[in-house]
Amino acid sequence: MTDVLDLFPQYAEELKLLRKTAREYAQRNFSPELAREYEKKEEFPWDLYKKAGELGLLAPSIPTDYGGGGFTTYIADIVVTEELVRAEPTLGLAIMAGPFTSHMLYFFGTEEQRKKYLPPVYRGENTFFGAYTEPEHGTDITQLNTVAEKKGDKYIIRGMKTFITNAPTAKYGLLLAQTEPEKRHRGQTLFIIHTDWPGITIRRLTGKMGQRTIPVGEIYLDNVEVPAENVLGGEEKGLNQGFYWTLAYFNVSRIGVATLGLGIALAAFDKALEYAQKRNQFGQPLINFEMIQEKLARMAMLIEAARSLIYRAAYYVDDYLKFKIDPRAMGAIAGAAKVYGTEVANYVVDEAIQIHGGYGYFEEFDVERYWRDHRVTRIYEGTNEINLLTISDALRRGVWKP
Ligand SMILES: Cc1cc2nc3c(=O)[nH]c(=O)nc-3n(C[C@H](O)[C@H](O)[C@H](O)COP(=O)(O)OP(=O)(O)OC[C@H]3O[C@@H](n4cnc5c(N)ncnc54)[C@H](O)[C@@H]3O)c2cc1C
Repeated sequence: MTDVLDLFPQYAEELKLLRKTAREYAQRNFSPELAREYEKKEEFPWDLYKKAGELGLLAPSIPTDYGGGGFTTYIADIVVTEELVRAEPTLGLAIMAGPFTSHMLYFFGTEEQRKKYLPPVYRGENTFFGAYTEPEHGTDITQLNTVAEKKGDKYIIRGMKTFITNAPTAKYGLLLAQTEPEKRHRGQTLFIIHTDWPGITIRRLTGKMGQRTIPVGEIYLDNVEVPAENVLGGEEKGLNQGFYWTLAYFNVSRIGVATLGLGIALAAFDKALEYAQKRNQFGQPLINFEMIQEKLARMAMLIEAARSLIYRAAYYVDDYLKFKIDPRAMGAIAGAAKVYGTEVANYVVDEAIQIHGGYGYFEEFDVERYWRDHRVTRIYEGTNEINLLTISDALRRGVWKP
């Protein structure tokens, strides 16, 4: 057997059933025609998102108390992400982006916050956002311009966030602000923000290269009153923890982004293999030519290597969440998975286009759309450059090495 799930015998059976559910859901609901239609309209596929929620596909590794699938391993999330994105990248990416960042609320929120905010997201009724980036602070979020000032039992927040996934559609999400600006990253706090509160304006950003079914926007905050109870984790625990919790969460979410790359690479590989078998030149199928064979072999090899790294990193998350793995070591492993998974996607999708020749350049053959959809995976959730810096930092400190 060469099934990656057999590497985890304690979970293999239940994860294979979960994969079957995800696969059947995708077969019933996804098609390239539908993906093109949603992409043209730049619309989030709400109906598909709701159906995925009904099947427990939006948060398999979150306990059922909060609306999740109740799997005891983070690998469950990876299985579903790989499956849905491979089946149809544009639609799979949108569905997996719907609950984006909600794991952070699960990791650090109070019991009350988890029970109030998570179930509607995992039922597929709401999406979620995590707002860190600002126009002047992208990679470097150690000092933010968005400020939260305490007044009585409220915080007054002023500032602006940009490039925020789901901001135009979500009813609520998390936002990182300076509570003590002079302390820089040591004085940042995460707040649960509702988008319909007075003083909040959302502006949708259009004209994205790809991932057009995923709405992205700017959030303007003009003296927005936020109850102190909306400090993530509660005021006592959560005040000035925002920066650290964000990085701790990235150690997990970056493996998710790596899996987006893996799923897109697999989708492109599937198309390229099929095309190479069908398309004839010089009186024979392309796959008979050694240069095409070499391309397909290399693509398959890189995909398998990325998959091994990603699943291994996901397996470590279970121990990381029990504080058994050093956060910097986890950051290095997650960073390696993120950089490698997304670079493999870049290579594989590009070669898939090459194998399609001129047809690969047109939307009808889908690999063109996959290329546009995959490109941002090397930019968000920490650019690949910053992920490499995270790896080198762990090496330098001697907390991790290969
Ligand atoms: C489609 C999309 C969705 C997004 N969703 C979200 C979201 O939901 N929430 C959110 O908060 N943000 C989101 N982002 C923002 C994203 O995380 C940032 O774009 C990213 O962190 C980079 O920041 P920047 O764009 O300001 O680039 P910059 O920080 O200006 O970086 C520009 C270039 O310089 C490099 N660079 C910067 N510093 C260093 C350094 N020290 N060493 C070497 N190279 C360096 C970077 O790697 C990059 O190549 C999204 C972005 C996009 C495009």
